[in-house]
Amino acid sequence: MKERIWLSPPDITGKELDYIKDAFSSNWIAPIGPHLNKFEETFESLLGHNKYTVALNSGTAAIHIALRLLNVGNDDEVICQTKTFIGSVNPVLYVGAKPIFVDSELESWNMCPELLDNAIKDRLQKTGKLPKAIIMVCIYGMPYKVEDIHAVAESYGIPVIEDSAEALGSTYNNRQCGTFGDMSIFSFNGNKIITTSGGGLLIVNSEAEKTEAIKLSTQYNSNPKDYTHDKIGYNYRLSNVLAGIGLGQLEQLDEKVAKKQNNYKAYRDAFEEIEAIHLQPELKGSFSNRWLNCILVDSAKSKSELMQLFEDNNIEVKSAWKPMHLQPVFKDYPNYTNGISEDLYNRGICLPSGTSLSEEDLNRITNLVTNYYQC
Ligand SMILES: *Cc1c(COP(=O)(O)O)cnc(C)c1O
Repeated sequence: MKERIWLSPPDITGKELDYIKDAFSSNWIAPIGPHLNKFEETFESLLGHNKYTVALNSGTAAIHIALRLLNVGNDDEVICQTKTFIGSVNPVLYVGAKPIFVDSELESWNMCPELLDNAIKDRLQKTGKLPKAIIMVCIYGMPYKVEDIHAVAESYGIPVIEDSAEALGSTYNNRQCGTFGDMSIFSFNGNKIITTSGGGLLIVNSEAEKTEAIKLSTQYNSNPKDYTHDKIGYNYRLSNVLAGIGLGQLEQLDEKVAKKQNNYKAYRDAFEEIEAIHLQPELKGSFSNRWLNCILVDSAKSKSELMQLFEDNNIEVKSAWKPMHLQPVFKDYPNYTNGISEDLYNRGICLPSGTSLSEEDLNRITNLVTNYYQC
């Protein structure tokens, strides 16, 4: 049996260990320290647009803090993209609010602006209130319809939380994803384009929001000298040791994006002639980091046969995410669907997209698919 090919494993090849050693030798182990500050500063200069960042221990935590900063709570509704990973949605429940699921369009696979507008109108009619926030996702790293979505949100005055967990290195009109939301987030989970083994980043527009976010993520200690707590907070800060891993990873971001592009192009070229296969489309003005390559095959039957074939060949693949409105745990929440996310789920397979894939690995993967469609 050939060696296993993983879906999107961590790839640690830079100065990560040097930064960890430095944290150890200076005894800045936790919770804060110079690596953490430098990690945030590096992001602030990378993102531009006067953004402020707060490093946290997961992307999910960053969404949770964003919802708290926007005062989302009981009796509020939050619009969520149904085609996403559940980490996008769970924080809505953490704050006691209600998720409302909205389906995708076919041009980027992210939330459909028209359907979003319909959903907002319908919620207003049914509840007499506007949704309190919209959580937009850049699925598999692909930017959403930035102008259209923000035009809808602004027309109602609803803030947008941009879930760019997967989209570090992606741009829309040459501007980095993670800078479009009223608040935005990245994830540094082990499978993401850069990792801190586990971590996340909250991106906000003012120093005041940053200060409040730090308080919320450190048990809201209003007066650290005598432990006075005015609000309920969390223990969500990223440790200084892990921020060191992040610094090492961030230095390699351009190379990682280039490698992801190389994977994408290998798949695109190999499947060009196969009519049954489609890759995720890219909008004009969009640049996707191609974090994960999800292919759409001709039928659910081909999807399950191919997934079995990959497993038999020791290659890890995953189904496209099951839409949130189909999750047993969310079955009672309203949804506005058009069949697209269900179709993407029924026919979508995520192929290995790691930054350490060799040409030989890529050939092993593409040959399997090409042979399947040749017989
Ligand atoms: C990974 C991911 C998250 C959650 O990030 P964690 O760091 O794993 O908590 C949220 N949303 C999306 C779209 C993701 O891919």
